[in-house]
Amino acid sequence: MTLTASVDTTLTEIISGTTPGAACSPDLVAKPWVFDLQPPSYGPGSSMGDVIPAGSPRQGTLPAFYREASSEELDRRIRSAKETLGDRLVILGHFYQRDEVVAYADYVGDSFQLATAAKARTDAEAIVFCGVHFMAETADLLSTPEQSVILPNLAAGCSMADMANIDQVEECWEQLTELFGSEADATGRVPVIPVTYMNSSAALKGFCGRNGGIVCTSSNAETVLKWAFERGQRVLFFPDQHLGRNTAKAMGVPLEQMPMWNPNKPFGGNDALALQSSQVILWHGFCSVHKRFTVDQIERARAEHPGVRVIVHPECPMPVVDAADEYGSTDYIRKAIEAAPAGTTFAIGTEINLVQRLAAEHPEHTIFCLDPVVCPCSTMYRIHPGYLAWVLDSLLDGVVLNQISVSDDVAAPARLALERMLAAKPPIAAGA
Ligand code: SF4
Repeated sequence: MTLTASVDTTLTEIISGTTPGAACSPDLVAKPWVFDLQPPSYGPGSSMGDVIPAGSPRQGTLPAFYREASSEELDRRIRSAKETLGDRLVILGHFYQRDEVVAYADYVGDSFQLATAAKARTDAEAIVFCGVHFMAETADLLSTPEQSVILPNLAAGCSMADMANIDQVEECWEQLTELFGSEADATGRVPVIPVTYMNSSAALKGFCGRNGGIVCTSSNAETVLKWAFERGQRVLFFPDQHLGRNTAKAMGVPLEQMPMWNPNKPFGGNDALALQSSQVILWHGFCSVHKRFTVDQIERARAEHPGVRVIVHPECPMPVVDAADEYGSTDYIRKAIEAAPAGTTFAIGTEINLVQRLAAEHPEHTIFCLDPVVCPCSTMYRIHPGYLAWVLDSLLDGVVLNQISVSDDVAAPARLALERMLAAKPPIAAGA
């Protein structure tokens, strides 16, 4: 099925029975504020039963006016606020954000592209980030102290980022230090270099900065791993096991030298020998959206569309990446589609909002999502135009709501880890 309407419209039609198809949860079409009032949950419609960890920021009740306003009223308010605030405001929309919000974005891109776009807009006093929490934190790290970064709905987290918290990583580090010590070998390489994916909290980026480590994106993971292997005997990679495994495997690291670290078990559930012979220790984290893609889906796409080009994101499990024709970041996928000759058929393994938008932007191709079940990133989906109108109206009143602010003690080492990434060679192409 090739879909070009917005995901929200498609979901509403599927759930009401007016369009054939399947959605991963009927809760997805509920308004997000229904979930603001309920016990901790990432709803609406989390595909893997994601749960907000204790201590995560929580969204309070959205004022009744914004819950009850029509889409026309919200549109009028958002456009009017944008016009009044002018260059004092910049709105960023992630590739996976719903179309009803992306429509107001000044920049659309992946998390790192958006953070660097924010950095370039020093004239903007307010950066409204329509993505998820770790993205807003990265924008805060890269923006000036005079700028405020705002996340319209504080419950827009990332289930993968939340699978590794700072206490667990510190404990893991203590155990690895106990096992390996901290002295460099004869070649000057230390026992372990920590590498965190961009999709992680600022606290973990800060941990990497403090411990000789670095940040990576899905575009530059191989460059970053090379950087780390020049400085360390092995890498501790968190939080996404799949990006770590797919990248290291492509670099020739044997699977048996990539043990998994389960933070709930002593030594991650490994024996000392497995850790001693390891090259990459993979954290037990994953993206609930990309984990849905399967080899069966690829085989079905090939059977139904002979000649189809299958491109998947490296957050997908290894068998899926192996079965695809190509894999790469959101930016890679976008550019591959732009560069293809007209009439190409693509089956894409990444978040549905981006796939449907690409299908709408490229009518010269046939583009569809590998997963026949419509299942967006449920956490990013929590940014509804109602929340956007609310934070913009508040800015007009001189009030900054839902500001994301990284403390100085975390920000300084986190910036260091980001700077190491930017300095790693070859030059970095954005993507996360
Ligand atoms: S798609 Fe996955 S990794 Fe990306 S924000 Fe959503 S849950 Fe996090």
